This record gives sequence, structure tokens and C-alpha cells, in this order.
Amino acid sequence: MSAPPDSARRALLFGRRAPALRPPWALDEADFLDACTRCNACVEHCPEHVLVRGAGGYAVFDPRMGECTFCGECASACEPHALDRSVQREPWHLSASAGDACLPRRGVVCSSCRDACPEQAIAFPLTSRVPAPAIDAARCTGCGACVAACPVDALVLHPRVTEVA
Ligand code: SF4
Ligand code: SF4
Ligand code: SF4
Repeated sequence: MSAPPDSARRALLFGRRAPALRPPWALDEADFLDACTRCNACVEHCPEHVLVRGAGGYAVFDPRMGECTFCGECASACEPHALDRSVQREPWHLSASAGDACLPRRGVVCSSCRDACPEQAIAFPLTSRVPAPAIDAARCTGCGACVAACPVDALVLHPRVTEVA
């Protein structure tokens, strides 16, 4: 008789939670959960300390901790290749967006995210009395620098929407 499926893995695949932000170069979620041994070597090797132990003991990226520099140390440390740069050409498909808590949307001047963005992906078009951030998804790498810099936690990373021809 085959072993029952691991309950942590099953809960993560079929639960109602929002999808976790896995470390860069993670395999697709089901394959990642199969391959990851929860050793947390990636967490320990991240020089920016932006990876944490998440639900079920599986590693997640927490952009509130800071910016991913895409140094690749996490993938290099992953012995079972749950993070694999030869399989995943891009580290991930994430981009940032600002929600209703964003200060300019409440009439308060703020541009902390623009100042933190290493890709110059955030502009403040002069379309209203207090300009609000507009994020260029084509430039955004999902590095999370803006998330950590926002004083009111208004920015989130979400899967990038790809256009179907
Ligand atoms: S190093 Fe690889 S196997 Fe270990 S926790 Fe991180 S992703 Fe999982
Ligand atoms: S690429 Fe570097 S900074 Fe980004 S999560 Fe991996 S180890 Fe951390
Ligand atoms: S996630 Fe990184 S690249 Fe994207 S807007 Fe924020 S700081 Fe810029």
C-alpha cells in the first residue's frame, strides 16, 4: 500500500490560502512541494534574510524583510533542486502593486517606494493633486524593495499577468 500523502503538502496544494511566494527559481508549486525536503538551507544561506520558514516548514519569500538581490545563493544551496536555475529561466513571475492604504491615495505625499526601487519601475504621474505611484510591470522584477520601504504596508507582490496572444 502506498504511503498517505503528506498532510502539510496536501493542505498547501488544496487549501484556501493565497499561494505562497516561494524562493526564486522554485519549481512549479506541486513539484516544489515534492522536491523540497524542508531543510531550510535556502533560508540559512540568504544573505539578505528575506527567506523564512513558512506554513508546513516550506520556505517562503517575505518581501517585508527586504529586497531579493537575485544573488542565487538560495538556489545554489538547495541540494534536492527544489530551486533550480537550470529549470526555471526566470527567478519568478511577480510584480508589485499598491493598494488602498497607499498614502497619496489618501492625500498624503509619499514616494518611499520610488526611492527604494532599483529598477526605476515606479513613477508618480502628475495626474492628481497628490501624485500616486504607477508601477511599470514590464520593468518590475518583483524584488520586494518597495514592499519593505512602504511605511504603511500598502504594496503587495502578486503573480504577473501574462498576455495571451
Ligand atoms: S534548500 Fe531546497 S530543499 Fe531545502 S528548504 Fe530550501 S527549497 Fe527546500
Ligand atoms: S536570490 Fe539571494 S537575496 Fe534572493 S532570496 Fe535567494 S539568497 Fe536571498
Ligand atoms: S518589486 Fe522591486 S522592481 Fe518592482 S516596483 Fe518594487 S522595488 Fe521596483
